[in-house]
Amino acid sequence: MDQLKRHIKILMDLGFEEIFLDKEIEIMDIKEKEKLIVEMNREIQSCTKCDLYESRTQAVIGEGNLNAKLMFVGEAPGGDEDKQGRPFVGRAGKLLTKLIEAAGYRREDFYIANICKCRPPGNRTPTPWEMEQCFPYLQKQIEIINPKVLCLLGATAARAFLNRNVAITKERGSLINWEGRILYLTYHPAYVLRNPNAEITLFEDIKKAIELSQH
Ligand code: SF4
Repeated sequence: MDQLKRHIKILMDLGFEEIFLDKEIEIMDIKEKEKLIVEMNREIQSCTKCDLYESRTQAVIGEGNLNAKLMFVGEAPGGDEDKQGRPFVGRAGKLLTKLIEAAGYRREDFYIANICKCRPPGNRTPTPWEMEQCFPYLQKQIEIINPKVLCLLGATAARAFLNRNVAITKERGSLINWEGRILYLTYHPAYVLRNPNAEITLFEDIKKAIELSQH
């Protein structure tokens, strides 16, 4: 709020009489954001829009800083996430947390979510139709949280945004404008667990995504 007041004072000193709001200025306060996320969580817990509701213990909405300028997006909860109701808490999640901390931040500084809110049976990849059914929830979350950068973890998350197949080994590191926000494509931490040589690349990508979100 102090930052906003200073910004308005500078504009008034410069002679502006009207101010047009854009995405750079937070217009929704944190209480309002919390309320909308709680309402959405209630909705997804009883959602039956796709068949994934049949196998879930609970839907996993996501977690983190509701004012984050960077949101990490994966594909769907796995077994640990389904049990705990939190995103990225299994082995892949621990790696993500470790790399965020190695970059000098905490995972609570950012927001972490998935394309699909319910666990696919056997941790299979969600189908395009399932992702399409669930994507409006993520879009609404993005509107509420208003991040500048969306760091897409893996080909499946990238495919959901771009509506095409993505060869992540070729396209990682790409910056793509999506509805006025930056998509930054990188590996899923689960891929890095299977290919440990890629860990340094994922680490560099996380640092780059953080840096982009701060400028
Ligand atoms: S994955 Fe998404 S669309 Fe499908 S049942 Fe769960 S919340 Fe609903």
